[in-house]
Amino acid sequence: VLCGGLAYALFTWYCIRMLDRRTEDLSTRLVDADRRSGEASAFLAMISHELRTPLTAVLGFADLLAKSPLDATQANWVEHQRTAGRALLAIINDILDCSKIEAGALRLERIAFDLPALVGEAATLVRPAADAKGLHMVLDCSPDLPTWVEGDPTRLRQVIGNLLGNAVKFTAAGTVRLALRPTPSPSGPPLLQVAVHDTGIGIPAAKRDRLFRRFSQVSVSTCREYGGTGLGLVICKSLVELMGGEIGADSTEGQGSTFWFTIPLQVADMPAAPAAPCRA
Ligand code: ADP
Repeated sequence: VLCGGLAYALFTWYCIRMLDRRTEDLSTRLVDADRRSGEASAFLAMISHELRTPLTAVLGFADLLAKSPLDATQANWVEHQRTAGRALLAIINDILDCSKIEAGALRLERIAFDLPALVGEAATLVRPAADAKGLHMVLDCSPDLPTWVEGDPTRLRQVIGNLLGNAVKFTAAGTVRLALRPTPSPSGPPLLQVAVHDTGIGIPAAKRDRLFRRFSQVSVSTCREYGGTGLGLVICKSLVELMGGEIGADSTEGQGSTFWFTIPLQVADMPAAPAAPCRA
């Protein structure tokens, strides 16, 4: 059983490495293609779909393998496979989101959801990475934040998760703080203001205006050290704008950054509930 498990682990690891190389190679070539032609988006979307199917199978089997009896070394290998597989899937999903946004095909949902619970879920996803680096993570929901609001919870969680993920990724020590509060709008309904503060590497002033453009990592060395696709912030900006809001960033190099966004705050027509604390 152990030999079989080992062979299977090696085979899955090999598949992930191959997929990883193919995606890396593809993304480098397609960045150039993207600059040259709008048709690259359709090509990207097609290739991403092709990659997603075998990757989902690799991930599914790796998940099954993780539940089978393994020794500590094997369990560690499988965990590496799952982490790499999930990272690849996130890249593929980012590319697909970008092409949907470009084609104007991304539609937002409009349903009632529990806002503090959503904040807790977004934080839970990044907490293991924050804990691994010894970062202090603070959730700060103002007491007048409504519990039930209307909007697209999946996409809102994606934006908050992305900003939190970046904050954790680019911070070596200190605090990542997520703050949410309602704020009056000069015209129209109140706004929900969300800010993610970190005490990380910060962003040089000269690079700040490129942040929300495609494939715009601050520098090649940042890209090499931290990985990533340079698509996350573009997707955040498009989603926030689709929600009718604005996004921005303030930063001091070497001291930290604050990424913030505001969107219209639509309180849902639900039975009155006391403001729930943010739950992580
Ligand atoms: P990536 O997948 O590269 O993280 P993003 O679009 O999310 O793509 O971010 C683009 C770039 O902006 C990052 O590569 C990084 O250089 C910079 N950046 C984003 N968030 C932060 C942050 N909290 N602190 C410092 N730099 C950041």
